[in-house]
Amino acid sequence: MAESVEMFAGRLPQAVTQGVSPVIQDGSGRWQRSLAEAIRNSDELIDALGLPDELRAAARRATRLFPVMVPRSYLRRMAFGDPNDPLLRQVLPLGLECDVADGFASDPVGDGQAKLAPGLLQKYHGRALMISTGACAVHCRYCFRRHYPYGEDPRRLEDWQPALSALRENPSIREAILSGGDPLMLTDHRLGDLIAQLEGVPHLTRLRIHSRLPIVLPDRVTGNLLDLLTRTRLRTVMVVHANHPAELQGDCAEALEALVNGGIPTLNQAVLLKRVNDDIETLAELCLRCVDLGVIPYYLHQLDRVQGAAHFEVSPETGRALVEKLRTLLPGYAVPRYVAEIAGAPSKSLIEQL
Ligand SMILES: *Cc1c(COP(=O)(O)O)cnc(C)c1O
Ligand code: SF4
Repeated sequence: MAESVEMFAGRLPQAVTQGVSPVIQDGSGRWQRSLAEAIRNSDELIDALGLPDELRAAARRATRLFPVMVPRSYLRRMAFGDPNDPLLRQVLPLGLECDVADGFASDPVGDGQAKLAPGLLQKYHGRALMISTGACAVHCRYCFRRHYPYGEDPRRLEDWQPALSALRENPSIREAILSGGDPLMLTDHRLGDLIAQLEGVPHLTRLRIHSRLPIVLPDRVTGNLLDLLTRTRLRTVMVVHANHPAELQGDCAEALEALVNGGIPTLNQAVLLKRVNDDIETLAELCLRCVDLGVIPYYLHQLDRVQGAAHFEVSPETGRALVEKLRTLLPGYAVPRYVAEIAGAPSKSLIEQL
């Protein structure tokens, strides 16, 4: 999964513009314009979709905990006037986020414990994850890194040297995973610099990118980006993050096809979310639309128990029953692994076995 941004609204402008120059660096600049035009406050979101006024006060309150961010492309895939639209529910701040729920924490997945170097986490054998930026193009209300202290992680290439040294010293690490925030928020220029540094670590063979941008800001998938990802000696694997079949339409479907046709193995991970995708028709359609686009369903994640997201939680029993049903409806390769992230565990944990 991709992950998220600073928690204080006041810091947002810096976070969202970090690495994003108004100067057109990749010859198109369209995605940066789309990003600049994203909706950044709850009233604008409510107005754009003709939603009831009653939502306003609570939305403003919840925005103080985690700011609003919704690209126009994603907005266009929502139904007008429907407060229960499954895409809207992922991004509309609700008063429920301000409730304190037992068992929900600010670092539910133990990121603080797994640091090898600033910006570099290793939890599992053979792969390490780089927090390549704190910025995202969308703010998902259930984001498990909504409280992550991104301010402490590297921002410039020279700040990455300790992480790169740690990678060089660990020959067992074969794969670098770029995560964040969202690594595709970096300009092609900065991403290219980072990839060049990773290519210089001899034992690395793979580069994995975890991004939600192909889903929420499909403009980001440019010819230039494809060149960057396919001309490296590293085998690039893309993991996107779509939760609902209605996300996989129009420009998003085109972007995914461009990745797949460009030769980049592309996987999807979804999060199981109450009243977004916790019914069998929605989950089956999500998986089928993915495979029809050439994207393989990889994980269905149990929600990480981050403070402010309790109202999205679906019980593991319900989730298990849904996945069992999926197995009876879909080809085996279209059924994602249903997993939870348990702090300290040596891999993602299959919920079927818990
Ligand atoms: C989820 C995660 C990975 C990737 O795990 P896979 O099972 O290989 O997809 C790697 N590192 C960290 C820190 C993670 O949280
Ligand atoms: S894309 Fe959504 S889930 Fe991923 S990091 Fe950003 S806010 Fe979190």
